[in-house]
Amino acid sequence: MRRTWLIGLTLVGLCGAVLVGVVWAVTYYKLECLNAKGAYKGACELGGGFTFDSLDGYCVSCGKWVHVTWDHKGGKASDPLGKVWVAETGKTMPVYTCPTCKGPFLPVTGDETVKDSKYAEGQKLGRNDRIMHCPRCGEPSLKMKVEVFSD
Ligand SMILES: [Zn+2]
Ligand SMILES: [Zn+2]
Repeated sequence: MRRTWLIGLTLVGLCGAVLVGVVWAVTYYKLECLNAKGAYKGACELGGGFTFDSLDGYCVSCGKWVHVTWDHKGGKASDPLGKVWVAETGKTMPVYTCPTCKGPFLPVTGDETVKDSKYAEGQKLGRNDRIMHCPRCGEPSLKMKVEVFSD
C-alpha cells in the first residue's frame, strides 16, 4: 500500500514537472502604463512555446506589439533586416521586419525588469510581473502583469 502511494506521488511529481515545463512557455502579459499622462493599456505575448520560438517586440510605426513565431521543426527565424548599435548598452542588436508594416522592430530580449522605478511604488507586483519602459511615453512605467503561461 505504502509503495503504491510512493509510486503515485512520484508520478504526480513527474507530471507536475512536465506541466511546469510546458506552461512556462509563452507568457501573456496585460500591460498598463502607470504614467498618468500615458494612459496606455494593452497586451503582449513574449517568448516561444513548447514547439515554437518567437521574436517579440514593439513596432513603433504600427503602435502595436509584434509576436513572430516559427516551429522548432523545420522553421527558422526570418533574417534580420540589419543591425543597430545601442549606445546605452554598447551592444549591437539585430532588428527584424514587422509583418504588418515591414518596418523595423527591435526584439525584447531577456526578462529584466526596471528596478527602482518610482511608478512601481505601491503596486502589488507578482513574482513574474515586470516593470518595463513604456513604448508610448518612454517612462519606466509599463506594468506587465502575467495573465497566462501557455504553450
Ligand atoms: Zn509595424
Ligand atoms: Zn506610457
